[in-house]
Amino acid sequence: MQSINPVNGEVIHTYTEMPSVEAEHRIKQCHEAFLSWRKYSIEKRADRVHHAATLLKERKSRYARLMTEEMGKHLREAEAEIEKCAWVFEYYATHAVEFLSDTPVKTEMAESFITYQPLGVVLAVMPWNFPFWQVFRFAAPALMAGNGALLKHASNVCGCALAIEEVFSDAGFPKALFSTLLIPGKRVEEVITHPLVKAVTLTGSTEAGRSVAAMAGRCLKKSVLELGGSDPYLILEDADLDKAVTACVKSRLINNGQSCIAAKRFIVVEAVYEAFVQAFTAQMEAIKMGDPTDNMADIGPQASLALRDALHRQVTESVKAGARCLIGGHIPEEKGAWYPPTVLVDVQKGMPAYAEELFGPVAAIIRVKDTEEAIAVANDTAFGLGSGIFSEDIKNARRIARDRIIAGATAVNDFVKSDPRLPFGGVGESGYGRELSVFGIREFVNIKAVTVGA
Ligand code: NAP
Repeated sequence: MQSINPVNGEVIHTYTEMPSVEAEHRIKQCHEAFLSWRKYSIEKRADRVHHAATLLKERKSRYARLMTEEMGKHLREAEAEIEKCAWVFEYYATHAVEFLSDTPVKTEMAESFITYQPLGVVLAVMPWNFPFWQVFRFAAPALMAGNGALLKHASNVCGCALAIEEVFSDAGFPKALFSTLLIPGKRVEEVITHPLVKAVTLTGSTEAGRSVAAMAGRCLKKSVLELGGSDPYLILEDADLDKAVTACVKSRLINNGQSCIAAKRFIVVEAVYEAFVQAFTAQMEAIKMGDPTDNMADIGPQASLALRDALHRQVTESVKAGARCLIGGHIPEEKGAWYPPTVLVDVQKGMPAYAEELFGPVAAIIRVKDTEEAIAVANDTAFGLGSGIFSEDIKNARRIARDRIIAGATAVNDFVKSDPRLPFGGVGESGYGRELSVFGIREFVNIKAVTVGA
């Protein structure tokens, strides 16, 4: 398992895969730690979680640099990611009592209430794109609810995986309550099927989600899936185009274009099509690609050569099928996994850019007649993660957002961002279950009804 700097292709470190006996030992240790942790009061758990948040803030620049080296995100964004991890920890440490206290229910019994009991050891299979955030947004609610956590991180970010384990160990959590398994995706089955592992969450591609859900299903274990998306953004006739273009470019390029909730399909009504395309392309063209540690750069490289090449294939196949590439769309000569901001227009059904997730700085622009056609195209997808609508008729946009767009989140006159206070997740091939907010902390608990007779 290797960490490779995508800026120049140099190997940073080679990690040895953990043998099965070591993985098994860690599962057992995690279970032992869970047995003691579950007895901690929520307030005592919150103390540790607050401490971990403080350590994250203190170590921000070291951890941010590690992320940038292993997967190429801009250092600025990496630092913001560490701060967001501290936020999600503080959020759950503060709100867990409210979310997990027993809920009384009036029935004909003398007493009835709902209680939220931890499940045990939960496995998290995580992606490389937000190497710290994805893990902390799972760990904060899962641990506050009294569970143990095993991390199987993406194989290209083993350094981040070990650094995250270090945070929990230094923050005084019971030994091995949070434990990292350095194993590749093909060995996840041996962990899911282990009797001491009670549930699994996967953030990653639809393909990996299908496979993990099937394994969990076979042994009847709870699963949560946070998968990919091809998020539609509707630009309606009465949109404020300046606002729309700025937000759409920002959302498309966040994390070098490698975000599950990035704006990916721009569905523009005829009346504003030419103006939108012109302004959007101009802003994309002005983006500076460069070393992610350089303050002057806007975006860095893609996370690996394989991912960059897969993205380029989607672009060239779409162009072959009739899309026009206005800017970008070529592989630069420099060493490293570079791919420039790319704008495709005339995108239509049947092209990869219409149907598949474009996980990189490539925008697919689709022209439609009117609002109704825009909604139909937005929903013409197997995914359902984020989405957005730009219109100055707020009442109408709000109605479309609420009732017409099939997705886990819709933003009006803005783009979707994850926020500890709001549920996060998708429908269809974007997965099931929710992270964050009260819904996230209720995923890995036994929601138990207790009734007491007179
Ligand atoms: P990925 O290839 O699916 O990998 C994700 C994780 O799953 C990695 O740890 C990987 O391990 C493991 N894995 C891969 N195939 C597996 C299998 N067949 N069985 C068990 N585990 C398997 O995804 P990625 O390239 O890292 O991440 C990008 C994808 O994640 C995009 O589609 C993106 O949209 C999605 N994503 C979704 C969200 C969300 O919240 N909805 C957030 C971020 C990213 P190895 O590295 O060892 O292969």
